[in-house]
Amino acid sequence: MPATSELRVEVTVVGGGPAGLSSALTAAHAGLRVALVDAGSRLGGQFWRHPDPQSLAPGQAESDGQHSWRVFERMRAQLRGFIATGRVLHLAGHTAWSIERGESASVVRLTRSWDAVQLIAGSVRSEHVILCPGGYDRQLPVPGWTVPGVMAAGGVQALVKNGGRLDGRRAVVTGTGPFLLPVAAALTRAGATVVAVCEANPPSAWLTGTGSVLRMPSKIAEALEFGLVLGRHRIPYRTRTAVTRIHGTDHVEGVTLSRVRADGGIVPSAGARSHLEVDLVALGWGFTPDLGLAVAAGAEVRRDVDGSLVAVVDDDYRSSVAGLSIAGEATGVGGAMMAVHEGELAASAVASETGVGVGPARAARLRRAIARERAFARAMHGASALPAGWTAWLDPDTVVCRCEEVSAGDIRNACGDLGADDARTVKALTRAGMGWCQGRVCGFATCEVTASCAARSSTADDLRAMSKRVLASPVRLGDLAASDDTQGPR
Ligand SMILES: Cc1cc2nc3c(=O)[nH]c(=O)nc-3n(C[C@H](O)[C@H](O)[C@H](O)COP(=O)(O)OP(=O)(O)OC[C@H]3O[C@@H](n4cnc5c(N)ncnc54)[C@H](O)[C@@H]3O)c2cc1C
Repeated sequence: MPATSELRVEVTVVGGGPAGLSSALTAAHAGLRVALVDAGSRLGGQFWRHPDPQSLAPGQAESDGQHSWRVFERMRAQLRGFIATGRVLHLAGHTAWSIERGESASVVRLTRSWDAVQLIAGSVRSEHVILCPGGYDRQLPVPGWTVPGVMAAGGVQALVKNGGRLDGRRAVVTGTGPFLLPVAAALTRAGATVVAVCEANPPSAWLTGTGSVLRMPSKIAEALEFGLVLGRHRIPYRTRTAVTRIHGTDHVEGVTLSRVRADGGIVPSAGARSHLEVDLVALGWGFTPDLGLAVAAGAEVRRDVDGSLVAVVDDDYRSSVAGLSIAGEATGVGGAMMAVHEGELAASAVASETGVGVGPARAARLRRAIARERAFARAMHGASALPAGWTAWLDPDTVVCRCEEVSAGDIRNACGDLGADDARTVKALTRAGMGWCQGRVCGFATCEVTASCAARSSTADDLRAMSKRVLASPVRLGDLAASDDTQGPR
């Protein structure tokens, strides 16, 4: 098949993580022909990221450090069965960079992922598209965050899940939320010494969500498991504490820790600060949905309880665009099991139009599970709020947009001297978010710094301006040129 050829299927699923796997499987069970497009070379997405079985060290298993691995193994085995019969076409190492919707069909255009050998199809045409692109680390800049040795917490997880080693490194994990615990455990597993885990919020922040936490015993068990790792390795867990400055030039040499007040501000006195000698910093400020394709397709979006932009969907996970459903992290950050359940419901609704859905009893069970998981996620977001006024930690020369080297001072000048009062104008005046990452890394922070200049919160419009990309991901010029040969949707 030539690289530019177009596949025709009934459903295109973008994303091979928990939501996409379960969507593809449900649609295939319903008898629909599915293309599963995934930028990753192996199924599993972020949660079930695992090393290449060929490169496992002696004694190492694919499932090391994983949770709910049996759920993944079962889904993967079923999916492989459908791939063998041709019902599911798994386009591994294929990145969707654009989506065009016509009256009755969509065309999803593809490029080869950076590590993929070959592009099997240039585009996929289908009546229905289910987007399950997940999310990525929500990055907050801090003075020194561009020094080598600073990593996003999710990036640390990805590195370790892929079998990476960090022997002899001295690390601090800082930010907010329960994800700091698995990251500290992963660093330890990879051979690093974790000097401290710094949680910006007070422990009392969890009290308001106790009810929803108690309804999720599996999450409590996970937290206990990580707590035991911290105890066994004598890793201090410091609450109301944040890394507010990272020291070093060509590598990290240490960090300044500051005390965070109950209202989210930083205690200014020098006595409330301390220094840690580390050479690795993991910054974990939560995740934010990847909405590039959803926004490009014109889907409605809103600001979620954690401040991130999420896709608006109905009870069946249909977006505001006909023929386009969205499931998983892109509808709100809430964990892998919720993504699995949402993916199943989304595909079931699609299948009920042309095939057979999962049935009312199963759908009701899924909705109840999602309600519990969503309540837990809300409690988690409430307890893991970003410290109010974190933008005040930034020096004028702290880089916010790394691709275009736009500093906090540049953004403040655009607001103060040039009169910008929204992220779109700041983007136009400073080029923040116009580089290689197209605002994926700096989008959230640029909106927050802009909003702080006007003493307001960032809005959905601010965030949408930083999520709007003509190309949802970088594309090779050859693939772009070849896409001319394929017809648009009808
Ligand atoms: C870096 C990182 C590490 C994480 N680690 C953990 C962890 O250890 N434990 C935990 O509980 N939670 C973790 N999470 C959160 C967890 O990933 C989610 O709760 C869960 O995986 C959501 O499932 P999903 O299917 O919505 O998305 P994901 O699992 O993110 O899957 C999305 C998939 O879509 C693919 N994709 C995205 N865009 C495109 C595109 N344009 N074209 C083709 N494919 C595309 C991605 O490659 C990925 O395979 C992590 C998140 C991130 C970002």
